Amino acid sequence: MAFDKIGDQNIYIGGVLALQNSAALQRANITHVVSVLRMQMVLSTWMRKPIAGLQHLNIEVDDVEDANLLRHFNTTNAFIKSALDSGGSVLVHCAMGKSRSATVCVAFLCQQKPHELDPDKALELIRQSRPMVEPNEGFRRQLWLYHEMGYPDDIVNHPLYRRWSTQREAELSTAQGKAPEMDLVSFEDDSVLDSDHSTEIKCRRCRRLLATKPVINAHETESAERCNHIFLHPLSWMRPCLYPNSSEGTDDAPLDGRLTCPNPRCGANIGKFAWQGIRCNCGKWVVPGMGLARARVDVIERSSATTEATGSKQVNGVHSGSAIRLPPHMRRPQ
Ligand SMILES: [Zn+2]
Ligand SMILES: [Zn+2]
Repeated sequence: MAFDKIGDQNIYIGGVLALQNSAALQRANITHVVSVLRMQMVLSTWMRKPIAGLQHLNIEVDDVEDANLLRHFNTTNAFIKSALDSGGSVLVHCAMGKSRSATVCVAFLCQQKPHELDPDKALELIRQSRPMVEPNEGFRRQLWLYHEMGYPDDIVNHPLYRRWSTQREAELSTAQGKAPEMDLVSFEDDSVLDSDHSTEIKCRRCRRLLATKPVINAHETESAERCNHIFLHPLSWMRPCLYPNSSEGTDDAPLDGRLTCPNPRCGANIGKFAWQGIRCNCGKWVVPGMGLARARVDVIERSSATTEATGSKQVNGVHSGSAIRLPPHMRRPQ
């Protein structure tokens, strides 16, 4: 059969040839169709007829690792749910019924049963009737990110999505030798900065607060060598460094450059940025690379103040043992 039923639900998965078999579609009581592919090339031909009269949703993405399927999950989930709620059956198809359609089905199954399923378990469920399914590597990562986000109803405003999307834009645009457009970069705002002060990073020269723990772009490292940079997610104060020409209305932004202290009376050189990424001295690449030079900043670790302050244990690229502690009266209240 060109399409297969998933578990005991009225959800079917298949390739584009599934649409050729009107009789089979009728037998399966298909009322809704999700097409996860670019339709223009096929719509003019035989596909148009069998889906006439059916509820149809078209998500136009290619089966490539950097395609963003994640942002469509809210739409596909709602559509599949409406099909099931109406007592009908839904066919989710792409070209082969292997990667894109499977990704959409996994997202739906997981959101339905978030405590029972995860992307791997959902994939196993689909493979019971369709062993060939295999989302591409990029879609797998998107499914696990969706899982990590907790399957929210609003994906695109979720902080994890915004970080992922910023990283993706950095990779896509630097592949073409350009910095990402400013509007496509998600800058962490002050509320994120203020949500957890267990780690604070300050300008060594003027003591301006530059970052707190939630905005550190952690990179796990096996290296015993100390990382010379502390990487951050893009922050609002970096805007003048990252987009120095934006006030003139031009969008020609540098690919890399210096990060300077946002305190106008200081302006110290505190690190560097590179949209294409920076290779940390520990060996890890961090994209986008927004790195504070350890020699130019002070790292204050509060959480470890009560535990051992010696040693050189490295947590996510930040050496807890390297913390410079303020006298108690200078610490912020917890
Ligand atoms: Zn400063
Ligand atoms: Zn490192």
